[in-house]
Amino acid sequence: MAIPGMTDDGIGSEQLVNAGDDDANWITHGRTYSEQRFSPLNAVNRENVSDLGLTWFADMDTARGQEATPLVIDGKLYLTTAWSKVKAFDAATGEPLWEFDPEVPGETGVKACCDVVNRGLATWGDRLFLGTLDGRLIALDRDTGSVEWETVTVDQEQSYTVTGAPRIIDGKVIIGNGGAEFGVRGYIAAYDADDGRELWRFYTVPGGDEDESSPEYLQAAAETWSGDVLGGENDIGGGGTVWDSMAYDPELDLLYFGVGNGSPWNRAYRSPGEDGTGEGDNLYLSSIVAVRPDTGEYVWHYQTTPGETWDYTATQHIILADMEIEGEQRQVLMQAPKNGFFYVLDRATGEFISGEAYTTMNWATGIDENGRPIENPETRIDKTGAPALVMPGPLGGHNWHPMAYHPGENLVYIPAFEAGMLYVPEEDWKPDRARGFNIGFDLGAGDLPPDLGIRREVVKTLKGSLVAWDPVAQEAKWSVEHPGPWNGGLLATGGGLVFQGTAGSEFNAYDASNGEKLWSFDAQTGVVAPPITYTVNGEQYVAVLAGWGGAYALSVDGGLINDLAPVQNISRLLVFKIGGEAELPEMPELAALPLDPPPSRANASVIAAGGESYARYCAVCHAPAAVGSTVLPDLRRSGTLSNAQSWMAVVHDGLLKDNGMAGFEGSLTREQIDAIREYVIFRANQDKVMEPAPEADQVARR
Ligand code: CA
Repeated sequence: MAIPGMTDDGIGSEQLVNAGDDDANWITHGRTYSEQRFSPLNAVNRENVSDLGLTWFADMDTARGQEATPLVIDGKLYLTTAWSKVKAFDAATGEPLWEFDPEVPGETGVKACCDVVNRGLATWGDRLFLGTLDGRLIALDRDTGSVEWETVTVDQEQSYTVTGAPRIIDGKVIIGNGGAEFGVRGYIAAYDADDGRELWRFYTVPGGDEDESSPEYLQAAAETWSGDVLGGENDIGGGGTVWDSMAYDPELDLLYFGVGNGSPWNRAYRSPGEDGTGEGDNLYLSSIVAVRPDTGEYVWHYQTTPGETWDYTATQHIILADMEIEGEQRQVLMQAPKNGFFYVLDRATGEFISGEAYTTMNWATGIDENGRPIENPETRIDKTGAPALVMPGPLGGHNWHPMAYHPGENLVYIPAFEAGMLYVPEEDWKPDRARGFNIGFDLGAGDLPPDLGIRREVVKTLKGSLVAWDPVAQEAKWSVEHPGPWNGGLLATGGGLVFQGTAGSEFNAYDASNGEKLWSFDAQTGVVAPPITYTVNGEQYVAVLAGWGGAYALSVDGGLINDLAPVQNISRLLVFKIGGEAELPEMPELAALPLDPPPSRANASVIAAGGESYARYCAVCHAPAAVGSTVLPDLRRSGTLSNAQSWMAVVHDGLLKDNGMAGFEGSLTREQIDAIREYVIFRANQDKVMEPAPEADQVARR
């Protein structure tokens, strides 16, 4: 309900700094600047959570990944959905109040590595702030949803996207961007909440033209890169995008953010040494960076993965907390980035305090006393021609799904997983920054054979768990196994509960102290977003956005996830309270659609060439080896396979660009595009033979 101390000017620094004391509302992404995602609310607790019931729900008008954290302000709930749309509801009744569609051009979808998702809003004054997939920052009137201003934060000619939630510090709206798989140079920037003017911009990697007039931190970074592939004609971007996590300490006045992977991934191409292998730490890739929010001035950094080459972003959720370590009270920053180590740093100085593996890894055996990983040389695959199966793979040991920290238990809850990848360096790789994945590895090399049994066995090796991590002892206190990876973000509460959705279409409550499952709701769809909790008129609600999607959901065979029935995308906000009695409509059946491709008649070299292009340009959205997810169209079942002209109209000309399928004219020739068709026909015939007739794969795909 009403925000404490709020004046006619609306939400300001006082409200944001003190958000932890205001348990009725949820006014910033991680609930507080410390991003703990812990609410003291305890009306829903261990004793009564079994009576938690759905009280209202709202269907979304998109059927893509739903990753947003809603905000709740004075009895109203605001959220973002796929394609950067915004919706407002009465938080108690679910009555829709307004909605806003920024009309992101559909073809922007081709620039998104990981689905057309959006993770949420920020608020300041009487406005809401939204970053859109096509790189705009938009200020909306919180009461009506009307646009107050909008500004473009990226070069829209390049493959930048914005999926993260802005944060606001003292009237400055902070937002980064994504796109490091495609060839961009990462940065984070601040904009005036009044009018959208850019106030500062902090580049995370050198631009190739550093001199004495450049900021010192960039001059220092330039020393850690080799070759001359930054800037100029053959610019490969460098990467280091800041696409998700931020946290703020108002006392130290430090803004923290996580920096992403290199562009391309393969360091041999990004920062080539004299012998053709990669060289240098490549600052500030895969780093946690602290800056002054007022000016963007560099203060400190800690690099989790020097010379990263495995897509090991450090953009994962950052949590700030104070705790006693070895008899000393420490101000710490915690992160479980993709590389599989759980880090505890001193957030005043960036000093490394401790780090241990929270998931299975083989790329490093530990961290030395200087905070540098001790690498396994066999997994240093940026030397071209030496493939390796590396754990974790590019999905990480933990991805964007937010963790939560329970101060009473002193535990961090990690939505962790195990999913390695075979990294096969691509020979003679050349960048194409216009379209397609630019990583310098052959994404098709790890494709699974057309054998259902083998595929099932491989998918079963991908594991997911909820890990309760003791950050002082640096060990798991307990963990809960899930049937597969890509489970939801977390919420911890004063009621002794941890809430999490799962890839297996459950929304669960666990005992925060021992992981006992106390309550479960059938969500009908995979839940990846983190829940929130709030009160209206003193009554506690728990809300979560459901809807299967995101990077893993697009890449995995939709019929094999967790060895369960196919997980549908049903995008819907679910809101619960004690005694709630609402019921979801019956789950729609997935209509059967036959796998009925035309015969494969192309010769092997055409199919092989098509497969190479497919891996680079198509696999990221339509799944490796065209196995078909449940989120995007399964190309093996496409009617255009038998019609070369229709295929060309879609893939070359962009006939369906407004639906999210851009044309590839300029990046692929007509001949290459037809070879991709022949490859998909070949693959569809392989899978038709291997599929037993009425198996789970015989389902419609969107
Ligand atoms: Ca990445």
